[in-house]
Amino acid sequence: MTERAQTPFPSACDVVVVGGGHAGCEAASAAARAGAATVLVTHRFDTIGAMSCNPAIGGIGKGHLVREIDALGGLMGIAADRGGIQFRMLNRRKGPAVWGPRTQADRKLYRAAMQGLIRETEGLTVVEGDVFDLSLDASGAVRAVVFADGREIACRAMVLTTGTFLGGLIHIGDRQIPAGRMGEDPSLGLSGTLKRLGLSLGRLKTGTPARLDGRTIDWASLDSQKPDEDPVPFSFLTERIDNPQIDCGITRTTPETHAIIRDNLSRSALYSGKIEGVGPRYCPSIEDKIVKFGDRDGHQIFLEPEGLDDDTVYPNGLSTSLPEDVQDAFLRSIPGLEKVQILKPGYAIEYDHVDPRELDRSLAVRKAPGLFLAGQINGTTGYEEAGAQGLVAGLNAARLAGWSEPVVLGRADAYIGVMIDDLTRTGVTEPYRMFTSRAEFRLSLRADNADRRLTPLAMDLGIVSGERAARFSQGEAAFLAARAALEAASLTPAEAGRHGIAVNQDGRRRSAWQLLAQSAVEPDRLLTVFPDLAAIDDKTFARARIEAAYDVYLDRQKKDQERLRKDEGRAIPGDLDYAAIPGLSNELRHKLMARRPGSVAEAERIDGMTPAALALVLLAIRRSS
Ligand code: FAD
Repeated sequence: MTERAQTPFPSACDVVVVGGGHAGCEAASAAARAGAATVLVTHRFDTIGAMSCNPAIGGIGKGHLVREIDALGGLMGIAADRGGIQFRMLNRRKGPAVWGPRTQADRKLYRAAMQGLIRETEGLTVVEGDVFDLSLDASGAVRAVVFADGREIACRAMVLTTGTFLGGLIHIGDRQIPAGRMGEDPSLGLSGTLKRLGLSLGRLKTGTPARLDGRTIDWASLDSQKPDEDPVPFSFLTERIDNPQIDCGITRTTPETHAIIRDNLSRSALYSGKIEGVGPRYCPSIEDKIVKFGDRDGHQIFLEPEGLDDDTVYPNGLSTSLPEDVQDAFLRSIPGLEKVQILKPGYAIEYDHVDPRELDRSLAVRKAPGLFLAGQINGTTGYEEAGAQGLVAGLNAARLAGWSEPVVLGRADAYIGVMIDDLTRTGVTEPYRMFTSRAEFRLSLRADNADRRLTPLAMDLGIVSGERAARFSQGEAAFLAARAALEAASLTPAEAGRHGIAVNQDGRRRSAWQLLAQSAVEPDRLLTVFPDLAAIDDKTFARARIEAAYDVYLDRQKKDQERLRKDEGRAIPGDLDYAAIPGLSNELRHKLMARRPGSVAEAERIDGMTPAALALVLLAIRRSS
């Protein structure tokens, strides 16, 4: 038992968070930061911060989510900085809007960092145990979580973040093991509770590769992938990364690998009809890759060490549900792995999830007041997606407990807003993961400016530390001063030409801010022309360069954002005659008549609503007013 578990059992609190995974940690921390007396109930304290699958945080789109969690005072970015052992900025050749901060993490360091952050959180108590049921009051609102032994913790609001544990079933070949993760019992009571509440549940699946003994890999024969020389931290609070940075190995599957897998497909849980859940299209198993994408010239595999003092290696790209003997055979057909020893076999896992259309955009369940859901339970996949939802659900649970209005992030505010809008509006047919292409306002929703977008809101909500607020205010003041200096310094085209700066000879003076926006103009050149600008520190200068480059596009995007915000807030008259709107499909007409949405935002979330149908509704509102 842990030190935490020995604290007296709390019989009541404001917010209970169930599950100490990535969603649960952010939810519990956000609720406590928002001032709620919070209890986090999880199976085991020592699995807080556990990474069920790949030892990495961030990536394309996902890195944005981590930056946003951090900007809102969350934990994941700080833990990733403390655990990160191979920082890389993905997509660096493209524009900063789609750069994807990522780090491979030392599992133990990440877990220790997250456990430390949870331990330090004021107003948060951790209890070890299995929540088996929920208890409702006479009005149907949630009032307590119930343990298998009948004990209860009463609360005003609760957040369920049970991950892959709800009705979890592991598959390895034809072997099936009820589990939430390998070696951990599933959560069996709560699926029944959620069905009893009338919620629509579905079944999804995901998978993980075997873990390998790094001492049996022939590293010398392999290519390697280097970390960035200048690791960029996730957290706006981290000054620099202190951990040693490591290389990964790179190898490829071979025709022999593919033949072994193809010959044994009937023994794969996935292809023998034993798995009913749908898996993530963008993170397919190796069986899926061979069947769907064929041999190609082999599939690339990254061999990622799981820690600085750990010989375990995660072969990224080889998730599988084949039996152990087949895993062993196909692994040994891969260059560098001829003598590899498996430490733990790969497996697939099926679990229950709730249809996220049951939720509103504060992540509250409509049918059960006081109940919030976050993470894999909502049909997403990934630590970052889970953490981001956890933060929103925890914050809103605390606000509900404190009688405050919920906080909703829109599509124009944050990737978090995009994800929650997608989930609650259209639901999921496969595990949902974030991509930059999902964000229509990605020019302004960048990873580099997450603090400028979200920290002021978090400061207003009182969910960031004094240190973060002060850091942000200093950085913002430095940026605004730098921008003013850059805008004040200017050149004619002729003067620019004399300094070797190529601009159109159109007679227009250009400010240093405008010149900085041109990628061909090197900052050093500007400094020789305007020596006073050298007073701007490097970090602020780099930020100004990105902001200047995007400034030109942002005006147009801002107008689009304003239009969306205005339209979303527009009320729909209660007596709007949907039958008289030409061009609406019968299906949508009936849904609108049955639901009678009070606002465009609400209409937008109706399952199957299209932008074209919404435009017809908007036109009808304008005509009726
Ligand atoms: P989890 O991290 O699963 O945490 C759930 C927590 O809730 C656990 O601590 C559990 O002990 C606790 N809990 C559950 N029920 C109860 C209860 N009734 N009472 C008390 N505590 C409870 N993501 C990817 O992005 N790519 C992948 O390839 C990928 N592969 C995966 C493969 C496997 C085998 C697994 C298991 C997961 C995989 N994931 C993958 C998903 C990733 O691990 C999850 O998206 C992420 O961990 C979800 O976070 P979460 O907080 O929702 O849940």
